[in-house]
Amino acid sequence: MSPRRRRSLLLRIEVREAGRQAQCRHDRSHLIAKGEARFIVRNPGPAGGEKGYCAECGAAMVELARQVLDEIERQL
Ligand SMILES: [Zn+2]
Repeated sequence: MSPRRRRSLLLRIEVREAGRQAQCRHDRSHLIAKGEARFIVRNPGPAGGEKGYCAECGAAMVELARQVLDEIERQL
C-alpha cells in the first residue's frame, strides 16, 4: 500500500515562464521579459484570476511566507 499523500497547503502559487513581456504587479517598473520566470499567485474566492510578479518580488513573497510558516510550526 502506498503511503497517503499529504494534503498540500500551497494551492495558490506556481512559477511559469512568461509567454510575453509582462509587468510585475507589485511594481509596474519591474518588467518580466518573455521566457523569464514569472511568480503566479491565484486570487482567492470564486472570481478566480491570478496576478504575476517578477522573480525578485516573488522571492521576497516566498521569504515572507516562510517566516509565517516557521511561526505557525513553532506554535504546533
Ligand atoms: Zn517585482
